[in-house]
Amino acid sequence: MRDLLGGKGANVAEMTRVLGADRVPGGFTITTEACVAYMEAGAYPEGLQEQVDEALERLEGQAGKRLGDSDDPLLVSVRSGARESMPGMLDTVLNLGMNDESVQGLAKATDNERFAWDSYRRFVQMFGNVCRGIPGEEIEDAIKARKKQAGVEEDTELGVHDLKALTDDLKGLFKDGTGEEFPQDPREQLEQAIRAVFDSWQGDRAVEYRRISRIPDEWGTAVNVQQMVFGNKGDTSCSGVAFSRDEVTGEPTPSGDYLANAQGEDVVSGVRTPRDLHAMKDDMPDAYGELMDILRELERHYSDMQDTEFTVEEGSLYMLQTRDAKRPAQAAVRFAVDAVDEALLGRDAALMTIDPYTLDALLHPHFAPDAEFHVIAEGVAASPGAARGGIVFTAEDAVTAGEEGRDVILVRPFTEADDVGGFHAAKGILTSEGGKASHAALVARGMGKPCVAGAGALEIDLKAKTVRAGDTQLSEGDVIAIDGSRGLVTADEVPLQDAEVSEEFEQVLLWADEVRTLGVRTNADTPEDSRKARDFGAEGIGLCRTEHMFMQSDRQPKMRAMIMAESEKDRRKCLDALLPLQQEDFEGLFETMSGMPVTIRLLDPPLHEFLPSGEELAGELEHARAEGSDDVEKMQETLDRVHELAETNPMLGTRGVRLGILHPEVYEMQLRAIVRAGLAATKISGEAPQIEIMIPLVAYEQELDLMRGLVDGVIEEETGGELDVHVGTMIELPRACFVADRIAAHADFFSFGTNDLTQTALGFSRDDVESGFLNRYMERKIVDRSPFETIDKPGVGWLVRLAAWVGREAKPDLTLGICGEHGGDPDSVAFFHMAGLDYVSCSPYRVPIARVAAAQAAITEASD
Ligand code: PEP
Ligand code: MG
Repeated sequence: MRDLLGGKGANVAEMTRVLGADRVPGGFTITTEACVAYMEAGAYPEGLQEQVDEALERLEGQAGKRLGDSDDPLLVSVRSGARESMPGMLDTVLNLGMNDESVQGLAKATDNERFAWDSYRRFVQMFGNVCRGIPGEEIEDAIKARKKQAGVEEDTELGVHDLKALTDDLKGLFKDGTGEEFPQDPREQLEQAIRAVFDSWQGDRAVEYRRISRIPDEWGTAVNVQQMVFGNKGDTSCSGVAFSRDEVTGEPTPSGDYLANAQGEDVVSGVRTPRDLHAMKDDMPDAYGELMDILRELERHYSDMQDTEFTVEEGSLYMLQTRDAKRPAQAAVRFAVDAVDEALLGRDAALMTIDPYTLDALLHPHFAPDAEFHVIAEGVAASPGAARGGIVFTAEDAVTAGEEGRDVILVRPFTEADDVGGFHAAKGILTSEGGKASHAALVARGMGKPCVAGAGALEIDLKAKTVRAGDTQLSEGDVIAIDGSRGLVTADEVPLQDAEVSEEFEQVLLWADEVRTLGVRTNADTPEDSRKARDFGAEGIGLCRTEHMFMQSDRQPKMRAMIMAESEKDRRKCLDALLPLQQEDFEGLFETMSGMPVTIRLLDPPLHEFLPSGEELAGELEHARAEGSDDVEKMQETLDRVHELAETNPMLGTRGVRLGILHPEVYEMQLRAIVRAGLAATKISGEAPQIEIMIPLVAYEQELDLMRGLVDGVIEEETGGELDVHVGTMIELPRACFVADRIAAHADFFSFGTNDLTQTALGFSRDDVESGFLNRYMERKIVDRSPFETIDKPGVGWLVRLAAWVGREAKPDLTLGICGEHGGDPDSVAFFHMAGLDYVSCSPYRVPIARVAAAQAAITEASD
């Protein structure tokens, strides 16, 4: 019932049933609905006061004690508890019910005057701070002053007399701050504490935390009122936190911390250094043994690793709360495997305990978890993993450094197609512009290189080869480190930790494969990337972007010459020179992926991307003219061609299939290279590769019809029609979704290009929005995540479902895949499973994540 009672309230209630009322201090929970009503009305909702009174009476009856009694009083804690845990964000008040009378009662009942006064002063302190905003520093100063006067170092050394005086000091602070006497009526105290917890839901830090964690504002928090037990009653008492298994490694041994003679907040506040949980074995062996049994019992009941709080009061163990433990990826994977071995969970249930979003951390190096460093800039976490190296500002410098064995980070305002060589050579990529779907991010993710994109605070001066981030001025060669999983940049020496696919992770992935029905392919353009992806379990290539092949240094001049050619004859000559190189590329892919489908997409980007930028060229031309260089004429021609090819909106311009229509000879060359590579591969392995040719950016069925004709013509010419090749299209424009039935008539498969589909359906530039207005959109809660990162289900997702539906209506055996970046996002993978697609295709490093996400989607569907 966590929606109504909050996580803490629901778990305490359930834990009471499981462990018995003796183990869990009694109490009651004010629902999240009451909080919502309070927020709406700006006042205590009608009936709440009466219900709290009734519940309190019941609690007093059970406990056999009364709140504020001058004889053995009941004391309660008042704690928040939202549906999702928001650690440290909401308020808590302990020891409520203390006043000038009950302090005497407590002293009498416990025969411990010091303990009673220590509890009272703690209450005045906490109540003043939390419920009435008395500043923490003022309170700390008062405590310090008292300690000084008493000539002691620690709070625990303050005697009864000092604590009485301190309580008076704190009451004085309360009066100065609020103009009121410290409230003596416990019911008034309770009402104020409940209000304070409700109000803390709207506090700045809670609002900010919810924004980051995407927790809805309208949920509200529950309030738990629970009888206090005391860990600060001397050496046979303690407070602590305990995990049912090691919370970092997942090893099946409980872990945690405790503090003798202390209350729970002392353990978490860090004022005193807690001891390792297992030291309790010697200190309090009975309670320790009981705690170990309870941890096992709770784990069995909840079928998940537990994170608990406990108190031992004079030898008696009480459990204060339990919840499913948040855990890093390695602990999650270890737990899943052990839980199946221990017959705690079945395989499906064990798979469901893993958060696939965390798995990235297992596949890339990362900053050592305890490393301390100063962040000089933050950007979009564009490609996970961490890297460290000297700064270089050009792809060429990265390549040179790579050849010399130096580790470098490529730092650019943004990257372009011809920077790709530099990506391979660099350890990581850092840009000041762009977002998750920018060129830098896409290519980096494909290669498994860490990337921080759109770090807007960086002022990069490419001419001077310097970069400034606030007060930090860096030059070429200065070492920086980037964390692409968190979007952080630092100039400090942060140690990196290597990642490895553990045996347990391998096991989890094999289980995932057994249940998932969605295929997982990879986006890869080179044999190295394909091999990596195959090792990670990819079942084929879902997208080979052939343009990346033209960027390598031996091809670029030929590509440029082709674009510059005046006549078709000249163009064909250049293409003839490129053909064997392309053929070699495809042979490499067919070899590494033998036995699996390889989807090759024909050229997609606008041609101007292969030429130098007009601005750069104009500068060089001016320089060449001044120097009287012989190259002036040639340079002028190139510049003219650049101007000729320039378009106001190149992403909506002559690209994709439009190139194939305008310059069929380019596609023809690629097709010949594919077919010849296919024949060569067949000869070597005796098995024909599974070739799928994909046409990008199709909007009209006639476009695909024409291109299919081109493919058939080339196959006929090259093989006499012998080679079996599938021809399909990317579906990445809204019109293509609407007319998917017509397009399907000419296609063997569809592959959704959700990057362009998101761009064109929303009218959002995939290169700019994530470092631009989208941040404001997230702050204003118009969207909670970038639509380029996770599929916009009601909008873009609807287009995908529509096209899948009408496409299959027209052609029932149409294969459906998706190769946009969303193919590696777990939430989107679940959506594509439900939309009935056959496979997702993602960058190699996301393949394991997609396998787990696809398995979870299948399990969820089966259990619905
Ligand atoms: C897409 O648009 O989703 C896609 C996969 O193609 P590209 O990213 O190369 O445009
Ligand atoms: Mg596209």
